[in-house]
This record gives sequence, structure tokens and C-alpha cells, in this order.
Amino acid sequence: MGIDEKTNVAAEANETGETQSKKAAKKLAKEAVKAAKKAEYKAAAAATSGASGNNDAEAAKDYSEGKYGASKLIQSQERHEDRIFTRVSDLSQFAEKYPNQSVWVRGRVHTSRCKGKQCFLILRQQSSTVQCLIAVNDVVSKQMVKFSGSINKESIIDLRAKIVAVSSKIESCTEQNLELAAFEIYLVSSAKPQLPLQIEDASRPEKNNDPNSLQIRVNQDTRLDNRVLDLRTPANQAIFRLEAGVCRLFRDILARNGFTEIHTPKIISAASEGGANVFTVSYFKDSAYLAQSPQLYKQMAIAADFEKVYTVGAVFRAEDSNTHRHLTEFVGLDLEMTFKYHYHEVLDTIGNTFTEIFKGLRDEYATEITAVANQYDVEPFKFLEPPLRLEYAQGVAMLREVGIEMGDEEDLSTPNEKLLGRLVKAKYDTDFYILDKFPLAVRPFYTMPDPNNPKWSNSYDMFMRGEEILSGAQRIHDPDYLIERAKHHAIDISKIASYIEAFRFGCPPHAGGGIGMERVVMLYLGLDNIRKTSMFPRDPKRLTP
Ligand code: ATP
Repeated sequence: MGIDEKTNVAAEANETGETQSKKAAKKLAKEAVKAAKKAEYKAAAAATSGASGNNDAEAAKDYSEGKYGASKLIQSQERHEDRIFTRVSDLSQFAEKYPNQSVWVRGRVHTSRCKGKQCFLILRQQSSTVQCLIAVNDVVSKQMVKFSGSINKESIIDLRAKIVAVSSKIESCTEQNLELAAFEIYLVSSAKPQLPLQIEDASRPEKNNDPNSLQIRVNQDTRLDNRVLDLRTPANQAIFRLEAGVCRLFRDILARNGFTEIHTPKIISAASEGGANVFTVSYFKDSAYLAQSPQLYKQMAIAADFEKVYTVGAVFRAEDSNTHRHLTEFVGLDLEMTFKYHYHEVLDTIGNTFTEIFKGLRDEYATEITAVANQYDVEPFKFLEPPLRLEYAQGVAMLREVGIEMGDEEDLSTPNEKLLGRLVKAKYDTDFYILDKFPLAVRPFYTMPDPNNPKWSNSYDMFMRGEEILSGAQRIHDPDYLIERAKHHAIDISKIASYIEAFRFGCPPHAGGGIGMERVVMLYLGLDNIRKTSMFPRDPKRLTP
């Protein structure tokens, strides 16, 4: 750019600047006139109403100061023992017991709707919700209402409020007959303004015949990517409480029956079941594997005279199975027990354990089952007492009757497994059954063969809604027979030497089984994907969060 050009540009800028400042001056003058008129009007109004004239100052004074605001970062400096908190679900009980007494409640801002001098928040605590009103009155200033309206959804707040009975039911909350009239409100932890998913969307019913099925739904990957938010929905809160129930019932029932809980190593030197589906991990200068099951260790505990053992723990499978029912890490509920003469002694114990679990879920988790049913199609789970037991050959015959062609010793394919489940349900009206005497060829090396027919074995699977949830068998407790069978399966004996050695000091006959926890919960509730019942699922494509 030449000098002349530069001068021109400067002159132009000057001109523009001048025009702009003229405009600004005009604007200011206009505003001054407006303000003067406003003041005049106000003074006249004050004179007519006989007010003192310093209304502005009064309005600006915040009489709620100190009763709201962002709380100091809680670093355990004080206990505030004067603040007795009440759970949202206990509010009506509290109101009955202590009428006119105020309550402290901590919860999340589920929704927020503010207009003028009042603000309606729905406060959520796990799956309970209550409406809160923050309205300008003689203790709540407009600044406090404004602050309440500025709190982002999902933030955590502490409220002090009066419990007020409402005349018409609040349909959108679990607490329908009361609301909280807040007069103190503190922000404990703020959520960022833009949420990757809305809890309302993630909670929306997803039912096959739902006329609203076209409404916004949150897809599975978005849910799993933002699992912490997703887990806040009522259905997810219920699923994982029920899952805890499965583990608790499993433990309680077995403990009552004389079982001892054991813990088995997850880092092992050789694949427990043979095969390639093991994860290798580096182990100092060497490598090791992640256990595919606690199988060998449960049996060694039996050889060590524990008689009846169970374990609840992580199981790893390096299978590239991208299905609705496979994870690469799941929780195994495993058990093993001795018997006197027949493995059906154990089969009965396992079958009855399931019956007890189903009864416990039905009786103690009705609220959770309903919460899940509010979002997903959930058919009540049906079971017989005692459980139905069929032989593998009977199952094959039922399938052949409906035109399925399969060999006697062929394993059940997933579609055939499901079809058999439907046939069993139609014939026996049960969602749970046991299939006994599987072909020996499709079972692991440690499975006891059937003494009467070399094609069969003393092994069984159990099914819920037509899908396998347990695999088990009588195990070979004779070391020489065990070696023979391991060699037949081309297993390197040297790698399982300590396992085989365990049987050389005398070992009682025993049987047991392994259950997939996530599958049990998925199938009990009739959900369509195992990722819904694993809090932070691991599959071939997902290793986070
Ligand atoms: P599948 O044939 O369904 O792959 P499997 O025969 O490999 O199962 P087992 O090794 O017998 O299963 O394991 C016992 C139980 O553990 C199964 O009945 C199932 O409930 C559970 N399970 C097995 N593999 C998985 C997996 N990848 N993800 C989740 N659960 C599993």
C-alpha cells in the first residue's frame, strides 16, 4: 500500500468515526430523556401512593442475602449438624410426623421453569422427584428467585423448605400430594449447561406398540458414551439395584445352604478351558492370561475339602462376538459342590437356587421391576417349582417335530436354542428350564462322560427365556481319567499340572456351574441387550468409559 492510499484509508476511518460518535451522542441524549421521564413517572406514582419515595433502594436491597448462592467447596470444614436432611421419598411421612417443620433436602435439578417472580424446580433424588417452588415473598427476594432460575439442570442443590400439601396431584413427580416451598437454596455442585443427553429423553418409554415411539430416543452408543448421565434414569437405577439383588440373593441362599464364598485368581498362567479366547497380559518379564472362568480353582477348593463353594467375580473372554449377549468382561456367579453318588444332587441344588432367586426378585424388587417396565416391554418372568428338567435328546426331538434338522450330537445353535425356549414355554409355561445330558463332544475336557452312553455326558445347561445362562457338569475327579480326556482335547498337560495334581491326594465327586450375572438380569427383565445390564460394558468395540 502506498503513502497516499494509507492517508485515504485514515481519512475514511476518521469520517466513519465522526459519524459514529454523532450517532452515539444522539442515542445518549434520547436515553437521558427517557430516564428522566421514568423518574418523573415513578415520583408521581410514589406521591399518589403515599410511599416514602426510596422504593428503588428498597427493591435493590436483597433481604434473602446469605440464604442462597453457590456453596463454598465442601472440604469437610464443618458438619452443619443442625441441618437434618430428609429423603424425598420420606417427605410425606416427615410432614405427617412434624407438621409445620421445615426440611433440608439435597437433590439434583431435574427440570427448571421460571417466570417472573417464581421458579418451579423438580428436584430429583435417585428415582424420587418432588416439585419445589421458589417464589418472591417476604423471605424470598427476587434476587434469590433469579439465582434459582440460573441453576443448570442436573446440578446438585441443598434446599431448606416448607412442605406444602397440594390440592391437585402433581402427575410429573413421584411425590404427587406435596411440594416444597423453598426459602434457602445453595448450589453444591454445578452441571455444565449443555448436557450430551437429556435424562427425560433417556427415560422415555421404548415399547414395541407405543404410539409415541417416534419421540426422541437416545441411541445406545450415546447412552454408553455418557453412561454416568444415562445411569440416572429410573429404569437404570432399578436395573442395577435388581442386579445387586441377584448377587445378594445368590450369596444369601448359598450361604444358608452351607456354601463358603471363595476368591480365585484372575491372573493365571494357563488358559483354564484351553482354546484361544484368552487375553494375554504382560507379567514382569513373562506373560500371563486373564481367567476365562474360576473353574479350575473352584475344583481345587473342593479337593481342599471346602465341600460347597461359590464365587462372584470378573471373567474375561477374548471373543470377537459382537452380539446382544456377549461381553469381553462379565461377572461370573460360579458354584461347585461335592455330592455323594449322583450329580443330580447338585443339579437340584442349583435349580432350587434359581427358584429362590426368582422368588426373591419377584417379592423384594417389585418397585424396580415396575420402574423398568415403565420404560421397556417387560413380560413377567414365569418359572415352575421345582424347575422343569428335560434331557438334551428330548430338546432335539422337540426341535425336529417343528422341522429343524440336526444331528444327535450337534450343539444347539443360538436360533435353535431360542426356538426351543419358545417351544418349552408354549408346552410347559415356564421361562426357566434345565437341559441335561449334553453331547460329550461339545463340552470341555473336565466333563464327566455318561457311563451308559459315550455320546452323552453328565452335563447340563440352564436357560432363561430361551437363552443359556448357566453351563455346568459333573467334573472328572480321577486324575488319570482327567489326563486321558485332556489329551483327547489336545490340551498341554504340563500347563495344568498343578490342577491335575490336586486330584492325586483324593478328591470327592463334585459338580457345579457357571452363571453369567448380566445375562440373568437381562433375561429376567426381558431386555434386549446385555449392555443394558452391565454398568460399564466391555465388548470388542468398547473399552471406555
Ligand atoms: P455362549 O455359548 O453363550 O457363548 P458359553 O458356552 O461360552 O456361552 P460358558 O463358558 O459355559 O458359556 O459360561 C457360563 C455362562 O457364562 C454362560 O451360560 C453365560 O451365562 C455366561 N457367559 C459366557 N460367555 C459370556 C460372554 N461373553 N458375555 C456374557 N456372559 C457370558
